[in-house]
Amino acid sequence: MNSKDLMKKSRAYALKNAVAYKGKANQGAVISALFNEGLKKNEVKKYIKEISKVVSEVNKLSLEEQKKEFEKLEGTTSKRKVREGLPELPGAKKGKVVMRFAPSPSGAFHIGHAMTACISYLLVKKYGGKFYVRIEDTNPDNIYKPAYKLIEQDSDWLFNKKAKIIIQSERMEIYYKYVKKLIDKKSAYVCTCSGDEFREYSKEKKNCPCRKLSVKENLEKWEKMLNKNGFKVGEAVLRFKSDMKHKNPAMRDFPLARINETPHALQKKKYRVWPLMNLSVAVDDIEQGMTHIIRAKEHKDNAERQKMIFKVLGKKFPWTSFLGRWHIKGLRLSASEITQGIKDEKYSGWGDEKLPTIQALKKKGYKPSAFWKFSENVGLSESDKTIDKEEFLKLLDSFNKV
Ligand SMILES: [Zn+2]
Repeated sequence: MNSKDLMKKSRAYALKNAVAYKGKANQGAVISALFNEGLKKNEVKKYIKEISKVVSEVNKLSLEEQKKEFEKLEGTTSKRKVREGLPELPGAKKGKVVMRFAPSPSGAFHIGHAMTACISYLLVKKYGGKFYVRIEDTNPDNIYKPAYKLIEQDSDWLFNKKAKIIIQSERMEIYYKYVKKLIDKKSAYVCTCSGDEFREYSKEKKNCPCRKLSVKENLEKWEKMLNKNGFKVGEAVLRFKSDMKHKNPAMRDFPLARINETPHALQKKKYRVWPLMNLSVAVDDIEQGMTHIIRAKEHKDNAERQKMIFKVLGKKFPWTSFLGRWHIKGLRLSASEITQGIKDEKYSGWGDEKLPTIQALKKKGYKPSAFWKFSENVGLSESDKTIDKEEFLKLLDSFNKV
């Protein structure tokens, strides 16, 4: 797009936004509409001054003038792609929408969490229903203990104390109950092949011998997994009976639970068999009555696996949408890197102003609504976004002002 066209579009979107919001156009909204028209993230810097000028010119007009000019322009702005407000949630019933955000206990929330979680929170707020923050802590090897408290604090702030916190490790008996259900339905079996052996079967699209076990034998072997004097770590794993000929090798009889004797941060040594995420996530989504799920794109295969579990249990899979990833150049978004940096005293804590955490941004004066508006504007986009730190913060700033 050349600069002249771009400014024309900027004016059109500024007018459209102003008309929708009592005469005040929002710069961030205009820029995100321009992204849909083909503006590249790395061009923002080049055009931001001009766009700002256009937006402030539009904001100087009266609402009547804006409406008049906008009517003349209608057709210039793409109606299909640009939406004001939140996206529609297919099949949503007033007061009955149940959604979740499911962080792992690896640290406090950062921008990446906020960008994924806020859209679900806002949709529940719009339709009415329940919003869960579910801490997925069934891998004892991957828990940063302070995360429980940090996630609770950040959720209270970011979701206005409206999120109900659920901790998966407190729900182990429920997962065990479902394991028995799946074994009973002949949809799960205990596999005692070594990892190498199973990979070989999978490669050849052949069933492993354990697949033939009867329900009774499977239940006995499951007890042997639970028993300290039974199978040892690595000797047995519970698998879902999907299809060993599935075109995607990752779908072939994937594991549901395994033995891990690392003491758990909360449960200590109470359990030795831990559900893997596809089992615990499917069970919780069923138990909590999830109606809609918005999650990161990298969970597509997992969603496929969870769908299979829903199916054998005779449950309807929730409506699902995937979000693209944000690559924000110059910002560290890995919780483990941040945790390490805090341990090494490179950062003073989760609120260190060098960090892109919610705590740090809160200290700098950002309000929860800045994150809400930002994610509302991004909507349900599956494309990955690459943006410079400065541009990202500029956009966030523009949403913070309103
Ligand atoms: Zn086997």
